[in-house]
Amino acid sequence: MNSPNSGHQRLGRRALIVDDEIAEESAAGRAVRSLIAELERRDISVVTATSSEDAALVIRSDPSLQCILLDWDLGPEGHDLSIAVVDAVRHRSGTVPIFLLADRSVASTVPAAVMGQIDDFVWLLEDTTDFVGGRILAAIDRYRSTVLPPMFAALAKFSQVHEYSWHTPGHTGGTGFLKSTVGRAFFEFFGEPLFRSDLSISVGELGSLLDHSGPIGASEKYAARVFGSHRSYHVTNGSSTSNRIILMASVSRDQIALCDRNCHKSAEHAMTMSGAIPTYLVPMRNHYGIIGPIPSERLTRVAIRKLIDSNPLAAGIEDREPKHAIITNSTYDGLCYNVTRVEELLGASVDRLHFDEAWYGYARFNPMYRDRHAMHGDPGDHSANKPTVFATQSTHKLLNALSQASFIHVRDGKNPIPHGLFNETFMMHASTSPNYAIIASNDVSAAMMDGPGGEALTGESIEEAVAFRQMISRLNNEFGDKGEWFFDCWQPDTVIDPKTGRTLPFYEASAEALTTYPSCWVLKPGAQWHGFGEIEDGYCMLDPIKVSIVTPGVAPRGGLMPVGIPASLVTAYLDSRGIVVEKTTDFTILVLFSIGITKGKWGSLVSALCDFKRDYDVNLSLERAIPALIEDHGDRYAGMGLKDLADTMFSAMKELKTTQMMSEGFSELPHPEMSPVRAYERLVRGQVEQVTLNELAGRTVATGVVPYPPGIPLLMPGENAGPADGPILGYLKSLEAYDQRFPGFTHDTHGVEVEDGVYRVYCQTRV
Ligand SMILES: *Cc1c(COP(=O)(O)O)cnc(C)c1O
Repeated sequence: MNSPNSGHQRLGRRALIVDDEIAEESAAGRAVRSLIAELERRDISVVTATSSEDAALVIRSDPSLQCILLDWDLGPEGHDLSIAVVDAVRHRSGTVPIFLLADRSVASTVPAAVMGQIDDFVWLLEDTTDFVGGRILAAIDRYRSTVLPPMFAALAKFSQVHEYSWHTPGHTGGTGFLKSTVGRAFFEFFGEPLFRSDLSISVGELGSLLDHSGPIGASEKYAARVFGSHRSYHVTNGSSTSNRIILMASVSRDQIALCDRNCHKSAEHAMTMSGAIPTYLVPMRNHYGIIGPIPSERLTRVAIRKLIDSNPLAAGIEDREPKHAIITNSTYDGLCYNVTRVEELLGASVDRLHFDEAWYGYARFNPMYRDRHAMHGDPGDHSANKPTVFATQSTHKLLNALSQASFIHVRDGKNPIPHGLFNETFMMHASTSPNYAIIASNDVSAAMMDGPGGEALTGESIEEAVAFRQMISRLNNEFGDKGEWFFDCWQPDTVIDPKTGRTLPFYEASAEALTTYPSCWVLKPGAQWHGFGEIEDGYCMLDPIKVSIVTPGVAPRGGLMPVGIPASLVTAYLDSRGIVVEKTTDFTILVLFSIGITKGKWGSLVSALCDFKRDYDVNLSLERAIPALIEDHGDRYAGMGLKDLADTMFSAMKELKTTQMMSEGFSELPHPEMSPVRAYERLVRGQVEQVTLNELAGRTVATGVVPYPPGIPLLMPGENAGPADGPILGYLKSLEAYDQRFPGFTHDTHGVEVEDGVYRVYCQTRV
């Protein structure tokens, strides 16, 4: 019964017939038509295509096909067109059944390579339609029974068992909700399947997340195979929890952990809970304020030694060896490390490496990212003298899963943590009532990437992203030729074609090269576009699917140009047209080409950007350009046009030096006065007070201060805010001043409360 049919949203049986004679008055045409009638009689819906191009389009756009029936004589001569259809099917699925429609006389013309790809033959003119129909139905049902991954299959099956439940959840398959109006509204909104599959750990048939048994355990083994780990763990409270589990399992009180300063808040939380001593690895930053990688020279054994020796928090600590290192890969903006190189560099200092791949779960499935993700290559090659490697992935972010779904993947190397010990920490952070729909969605995210599907789906994201990037780059060039401005993308200006060796402008490079060769995306030492100077060749690559659109305003070598357009204004404009972007900084807008992308979706984004240019150039009134802004803040912006506001904002940015202040604010690490755990203990005991920025000079903060974007901590709990005229307070004051001038465009800074436009921060009371 583990078929997709067991759910309520039924996935019906569906077949594709590809034959150029369907409409013809020939024996073959009549036979195909009667086969279609036979399949429909058996409740199999049939899609037809009469050419290989048509078939390729259907195969790409209809993932519900469960059988392909393909004429071996497609086209006037030879079998190339039929073979192309086989390839198109196998590009996406290794297992969907393919039948060749042929007659016995030509069967010998099928080459061995094609034989290996197909499942069976249909002798259309010889077999009875009833017999053929029965075989096709059986093949479809066989396929359906194997397509679901272990946990989802078990869940779908169990939700069909109408048992009398005396266990939690108390809504018992949703019936509890039906007893009140609001409950019924809730039930009807989500539908019965959600409630029927919302089960508790007392349902033995599904196994247990806490001891990794039954179908849940099988699903973790399946994920390990798909993601290339030695062991994988389902986590139902996000990578926030995954990070905390790994860190707390690996490093404890007064031990040193190396921590990317560009790390997620969950890493700080883990240090706070464990009492570990963070020693920060500081990444680069460029003229746009985009955070780069931690440069390779900061990861050598000598550099790490120096870093620990200069860390005031490590002063009294006897054991000088770091126990753990956590690195964000890829960064928010899509910079990914050569992980082999990082293993080699950091492996000289630390036995356990932890890559936070929250935004990067797809990397294993496309050769574009070869060697640039934690679980790279064959897990069998990960020898015991390599570091132990952990990865955390938010499957809900860039794979397809429900919010909070996350994976931990582990490869054991030096100083591994045995599963039994690791699981103690796992259980400490897990709920004893995990949500099964979240686990099932993790299972499905793995199954979608399994086999050829992973490369096909990730390949489509890359193709769409490249098409968009080339389009923006070409428009930028065309407008530039006319002396006009346009947006650009943050990417190499030129590309060396790997086949011809010729250097071409980005927009003229072959899309094939850009979608297949990582070398096109590697940050070359000294290349001006990236702004990270003499970065080690091959060390870092830009992920094509994470696209930063750049607005005019920043000079190529840093500093501001005479005229500019703040990105937040463009974002507000796009928002008013129903286009919501991922994040916005001073002059960049990040858009993600995730697996959910549909072909050509970017066309509407390009068209909205062109509309912005048109409206900006004529200084269209804000009433018309961004109506919501006038509705909310009419007193501030009434009577202004789009260009007026851009100019006003840009000159404020110039005057307040927001971009420069940000670079300076982050360029030097603040002085830590106490460890994160000490700062937290004082917070719990109430030994903290809220102060304004002017009062914050020289004080030790009680909570982290994290401006968004980019979301990298400016101050960690227990760090000193520095002098009144220092870079940290300078940056915060520039944000505060900007926010006061531009309601509707205020910054979001975690750890800062805003009262009547005044920033207030919790700091430690004086000791
Ligand atoms: C989002 C994020 C996390 C946390 O993941 P959740 O699944 O939202 O809990 C961890 N690390 C990084 C770098 C993130 O961006």
